[in-house]
Amino acid sequence: LLEVSNLRVAFPGAEPVRGVSFTIAAGEAVGVVGESGSGKSLTALGVARLIEEPGRVTADRLNFDGAPVATLSDRWLGSRLAMVFQNPMTSFNPALRMGAQLTEVARRHTGLGRRPARDRAIDRLREVGLRRPETQLSRFPHELSGGMLQRAMIGMGLMAAPALIIADEPTTALDAAVRHQILDLLDSVRRSTGAALLLISHDIGVVRRVCDRVLVMYAGRIVEDVPATALHQARHPYTQALIGAMP
Ligand code: ATP
Ligand code: MG
Repeated sequence: LLEVSNLRVAFPGAEPVRGVSFTIAAGEAVGVVGESGSGKSLTALGVARLIEEPGRVTADRLNFDGAPVATLSDRWLGSRLAMVFQNPMTSFNPALRMGAQLTEVARRHTGLGRRPARDRAIDRLREVGLRRPETQLSRFPHELSGGMLQRAMIGMGLMAAPALIIADEPTTALDAAVRHQILDLLDSVRRSTGAALLLISHDIGVVRRVCDRVLVMYAGRIVEDVPATALHQARHPYTQALIGAMP
């Protein structure tokens, strides 16, 4: 589904992602762990074509669903690739009601008219476990809790039919009780839709719970690419330190 070969992300004077290669098969859940600054988020943003100037992204190969990412339209990529970020507040316009925003995304990604797009938004919010979705749509983002917003963001990613969900620290900003709910939601969404998942987390326990395979990043490179069940055999000293630090 996703083929990444020698991906580099450079800024003037720095190259935080230094030749990253990995693949994700359809429906597969792949976790990315690594210390702060190791290049996890930039790798995800590079794949999703979201690196902004003056950043430069290069790759020998960056294919999504068989086609070079660079050749895909924004609309197609936006409908097949769902992004979930750490702080859902940054993904919503604070001045617009949830309904306007979610309906617009549904329209853009499906071509539906306003009424059916709104109905789809309501259905998706219900699917991601938001109670009284009609009421939520009449609210502004700040009127929802962090957990509710994160559910809404996952719902927003499901307006079309994503083949890949990239979630960058989706539970870091949430309190412990809600964290489990959101992880379980991502896991169940993945299973019910058949979408692949790229889950970035600094919590190796979280990644092990949800993912089939684990990538470990260190200083802009992938130093480990192993099945989640084989992590204990990892050889890189950083991975061993990570495992050693696990409770
Ligand atoms: P964290 O766990 O803290 O989220 P990360 O692994 O996601 O870390 P990245 O956000 O990918 O790390 O950043 C990797 C490095 O790239 C960091 O050292 C950061 O300072 C640098 N970096 C990120 N964005 C920019 C930018 N716009 N310009 C210059 N350097 C940047
Ligand atoms: Mg990050």
